[in-house]
Amino acid sequence: MYIRKTRLLTPGPTPLYPPALHAMMGSDIHHRTEDFRNLYRAALADLKAVMGTSNDVLIMVCSGTGAMESAVSNLFSSGDKVIVISAGKFGERWVEMTKAFGLDAIVLKAEYGSAVSPAELEAALAANPGVRGVFVQASETSTGVQHDVEAMGKAVAKTDAIFVVDAITGLGTMPLDIDGWGLDVVVGGSQKAFMIPPGLGFLSISPKAWAFAERANLPHYYFDLKKEKKNAAGGESSWTPNTSLLIALHAALQYIKSIGMDKLVRNAQLLARATREAATALGLELFAPASPCSSVTAIKAPAGWDSGVIVKEFRNRFGAIIANGQGSMKGKIFRIAHLGYFDFADLFGVIAELELILAANGLPVTYGTGVAAVQRVYAEAALQTGK
Ligand SMILES: *Cc1c(COP(=O)(O)O)cnc(C)c1O
Repeated sequence: MYIRKTRLLTPGPTPLYPPALHAMMGSDIHHRTEDFRNLYRAALADLKAVMGTSNDVLIMVCSGTGAMESAVSNLFSSGDKVIVISAGKFGERWVEMTKAFGLDAIVLKAEYGSAVSPAELEAALAANPGVRGVFVQASETSTGVQHDVEAMGKAVAKTDAIFVVDAITGLGTMPLDIDGWGLDVVVGGSQKAFMIPPGLGFLSISPKAWAFAERANLPHYYFDLKKEKKNAAGGESSWTPNTSLLIALHAALQYIKSIGMDKLVRNAQLLARATREAATALGLELFAPASPCSSVTAIKAPAGWDSGVIVKEFRNRFGAIIANGQGSMKGKIFRIAHLGYFDFADLFGVIAELELILAANGLPVTYGTGVAAVQRVYAEAALQTGK
């Protein structure tokens, strides 16, 4: 049709919360002033509240990967034995990163679409005494898989290792009891469920992990967690921060606090469930049926199709940007996101569009089959309460 609104429906960057976007216009603020210190302190306090932890919370000026790297370079020493859980492209990032820094990584691998079980981790911990750290993705965005970080955290807590969790798409899409489950380092990123543009990385760091920082010997300069902690206590960041994003973060955190982190999680969980039911109702196959995450749903393209056709059709017909598979999954799956500022109205549209795209490309579709599945999930969860 003739008017197509561009809609970013990917698992990062995600749709932006409009008041956060508007707040960014007030970014002519100097970062060594009291105005900034008030903003920074408030953002840190709100982030800590939203993450629900008593651990220190830091903000880094980088994308999520930079915050991941800071955990490696600040808490470990060359040759440290670590276990890396890898179930997709982001697990592979942990593998590459720990190897780049000279750690001795034992890799626990799951096939794309599957998760590594807590039992596999427990066996690896038992077989490898002296492991210093365990790395995982809470939600593996590339495959749509979720890890049981509760059981894993409790297993790691019994050892001398620290548990480093990439929760970049886990925060705001799944319950994460950071203190109760022993999640020593939790990494987040601004462009995921936090509803603002890319450019900020978040970290929570437990006392057990801080003790590691005392003996770690890997080189680092820009990403210096101890220095960042010291500066944060005074309301400042170590280096010139991206003030516009901090202003946006502050605004988005007010919104997240007003609805409640648990409700943000439930929102993503309901949208994910509705998407799985819609896909199944349309005869499509889920890529990660056994342990699906709620940040994104990965769906296999119909047999003989290139999923790129579906991605392109979404863009060309409806201005909707959805994600293809990454790496060897490219062309095989497409991914629909649910993290952050997504609602049921978005999903009604996405699934209706998907039905039209499938039909236009020759798949027999009864219009409304997928949409009705989404409506049923909404009706069951919210028709009575209106919430
Ligand atoms: C988005 C994402 C990252 C970080 O990627 P950046 O591009 O550096 O922000 C890391 N892990 C997961 C699971 C992600 O989804």
